Amino acid sequence: MLSFLRSDLAQLQAYTPHPGGEVTQPLDHLDTNESPYDLPADLKGELTALFRETIASNRYPDGSHHDLKMAIAHYLDPKGGIAPDRLTVGNGSDELIRSVLIATCLNGAGEILVADPTFSMYGILAQSLGIPVHHCGRDPETFALDLVQAQDLIEQNPAIRVVWLVHPNSPTGNALSEAELHWVRSLDPRILVVIDEAYYEFSRQTVVPELADRPHWLVMRTFSKAFRLAALRVGYGVGDPALIQALEKLRLPYNLPSFSQAGALLALKHAPTLLATVEETIAERDRLYQSLLATCDLRLWPSAANFLYGRLPGETMAQQDRLKTLVNQLKAQGTLIRHTGLGLRITVGSPAENQRTLQRLAHLCPPS
Ligand SMILES: *Cc1c(COP(=O)(O)O)cnc(C)c1O
Repeated sequence: MLSFLRSDLAQLQAYTPHPGGEVTQPLDHLDTNESPYDLPADLKGELTALFRETIASNRYPDGSHHDLKMAIAHYLDPKGGIAPDRLTVGNGSDELIRSVLIATCLNGAGEILVADPTFSMYGILAQSLGIPVHHCGRDPETFALDLVQAQDLIEQNPAIRVVWLVHPNSPTGNALSEAELHWVRSLDPRILVVIDEAYYEFSRQTVVPELADRPHWLVMRTFSKAFRLAALRVGYGVGDPALIQALEKLRLPYNLPSFSQAGALLALKHAPTLLATVEETIAERDRLYQSLLATCDLRLWPSAANFLYGRLPGETMAQQDRLKTLVNQLKAQGTLIRHTGLGLRITVGSPAENQRTLQRLAHLCPPS
C-alpha cells in the first residue's frame, strides 16, 4: 500500500457491476436492471443531430442545468407544482448519493442507516468517505423493514443522520408498505430520509406529492432504467429548496456533460414513446415469475420493479455456494444475472431474453 493513501481504503471494496470480470461476447445482460432496449433509431438520429448542430464541444456545459430542471419539473408535475429550485441533477444518482453523504455526515458529523439487503452504493460510498454505516434487517417473508430494530438503532445511535430506503427496494422488489411509510413519517425531522425511486416508472408508486410537507425527505430518480439512458449518467433529486441548495453547493460545477443534458431532455420530450416499453416489461415480469415458479426450484417474490428476486429454499452456506455455481453456469450459457443479498436478482429483459432465462434456469435448477 502506498504510504500516502488512507489506511482504511485497504478495507474498501469497490462496486463491481459484473463480478468475475467484464464480458465482451454478446450475452443477455440481465444483471444491472437496465432496459433491454436502446433508444429508437429516430431518437438516436435526433440526438446525433443535436450533438452535431447545437452542442459546441469547446464550450463548458450549462452548469445550472436550467432547461433540464424545467423539463424534469414538468415531468414530475405537469400542473407546475414542483419549482426547479426543488431539483438537483447529478452524474447518475450515484453522484447524488455522494453529495448527500458529504452534506450530512462527513468529518464525523453523522452516520447512516441502511436496511439489508438493499442497493449497495449507499454503504460503499459512505465507507469511501469514512462514514459509519448501521444495518437493520428485513422480514424474511416480505422484506419489509424490521421496524423495531430500525427504531432501536436510531434511538441507540443519535449520530444517525440519514436513513436510506429504496421504493421499490433492490434487490428484493418490494415497494414500501403503508406500515413502513407510517414509520418513515414518524421519524424525527432531524433525520434525513432518502427515498430512492429508481424504479418509479415500473412501480408507479411515489412519495413526491408528500414532499411539500416533509422538508427532511429527499426523493431520488434516474434516467438509467425505464428511460433507457444508463450510458448518459443522469439522475436527479427532489426535495426542500434549502436541502437542494446544499447539494448543489457540493457537486462539481460541470458535473453533467452537454450531451447527457441533451439526451435527458430528448428522453423527456419523447417520454410516452420511451416509456411505452414499460407495459411490456411488466407483462414479461409477471409471465417470467409464473413460469419460473412452475419450472424451477427457486423461491420467488412478487416485484414492483423490472427485476425478480429469488432464493433457494433455506439459507445455508451450501446454498450460497450452489447459487454462485448457478450464476456461473448461467453465464457460461450466455445469461448474466446477479448473486446478491443471499439470492438472485434477475433483470426482466426482452421476450427472447426472458425465454432463454426461463429455459436455462429450468434446466440448471429443476424442481426438487
Ligand atoms: C439502478 C439504480 C440507481 C441508478 O443509479 P444511476 O447512478 O442513476 O445510474 C439508483 N438507485 C438504485 C436503487 C438503483 O437500483
